Amino acid sequence: MKPTLPIYMDHNATTYLDRRVFEAMRPFFMETFGNAASRSHSFGAAAHQAVDHARQQVANLINALPTEIIWTSGSTESNNLAIKGAADMYRDKGKHLITQVTEHKAVLDPYKRLERDGYEITWLGVDRHGRIDVNELAGAIRPDTILVSIMTANNEIGTLQSIREIGALCKERKVLFHTDATQAIGKVPIDVQTDGIDLLSLSGHKLYGPKGCGVLYVRSRAPRVRLTPIFDGGGHESGFRSGTLNVPGIVGIGMACEIASSEIHEESRRLAMLRDRLQAGIMRRIEGVTVNGDERHRLPNTTNLSFPGVNGQELLASMNDIAVSSGSACTSASMEPSYVLRAIGVEPELAYASIRFSLGQRNTEADVDYVVNAMPGKVGRPIMARV
Ligand SMILES: *Cc1c(COP(=O)(O)O)cnc(C)c1O
Repeated sequence: MKPTLPIYMDHNATTYLDRRVFEAMRPFFMETFGNAASRSHSFGAAAHQAVDHARQQVANLINALPTEIIWTSGSTESNNLAIKGAADMYRDKGKHLITQVTEHKAVLDPYKRLERDGYEITWLGVDRHGRIDVNELAGAIRPDTILVSIMTANNEIGTLQSIREIGALCKERKVLFHTDATQAIGKVPIDVQTDGIDLLSLSGHKLYGPKGCGVLYVRSRAPRVRLTPIFDGGGHESGFRSGTLNVPGIVGIGMACEIASSEIHEESRRLAMLRDRLQAGIMRRIEGVTVNGDERHRLPNTTNLSFPGVNGQELLASMNDIAVSSGSACTSASMEPSYVLRAIGVEPELAYASIRFSLGQRNTEADVDYVVNAMPGKVGRPIMARV
């Protein structure tokens, strides 16, 4: 069976809506349009009830309380609120915060701003698989440390950090622990209680939900986390985040979380099988391909491969029938090699010649087989025969 082209294998960048998410959202644009804060009439009450239901759906997925779910515009905002909000609220305790070098820009840049504003930041390095050393983290925590921010899973290479160990360490040392779980949500199980998480960011559009809609989980007891809000306004969301709620988006993210809760195990197993077939197939056909990331601790849908001796620009240009991400980031002026690949020791030249394949719901075995058979032609060196 021939797959429909182009094939989408860039699910870590964004996803389409799950059909069930779309159907759940539909009535909230025109029929149930009320303002969830205007509960004196049935229009507002219906919207409020839908938002409450979504709060419960998100809470169930991560084992939180509904009151600990704060609606945001996405993970960029959630990360900013967690990091800047904690830094300001706890500045009397200290001005030291910890993170690591392969975080998403939506964590790195808030940290850089804090550094410019006079906070002291420890930037932990990673090993060649992209993992931090938890002992090194333990050594970096000081009496004046207020926050540790370590992502659950990396978006480029899929590496999973030892979240439970980090959570336990932070608990023991009485430091708040924030994790950007945007990529992990719906792919690997997360439990804010057993994982010792105080603040967690997630985003709708990485989870078959809508774009422009996200969540910050804020622990309400043991300890009760407080944050200085970024937006001042009507005091919505317990004062953490003012602004009229995006009811259709919230309903969508709630449904996406409910679907993830019930399908995560089966779907992750399916994706891991497809991903392994893709990776093994490419490596069998093309000599010298290397895997970036940690094959023992990795998202089930992600593989990031380097193609030595291949021109990165030519490689990317040849990928017109397969939507993927490359190991370079287009900044305004130039092509920069990925800072994540650089951090795990990949040389710039090889970083350019690297491709992230991130699989999802609609990918099939036929998609994988098409890509496996197409790649040798794209690297310009069909080294081994078709199997
Ligand atoms: C996509 C992504 C973000 C940004 O999320 P938005 O909702 O698009 O703002 C942050 N962190 C990680 C790890 C991501 O993959």
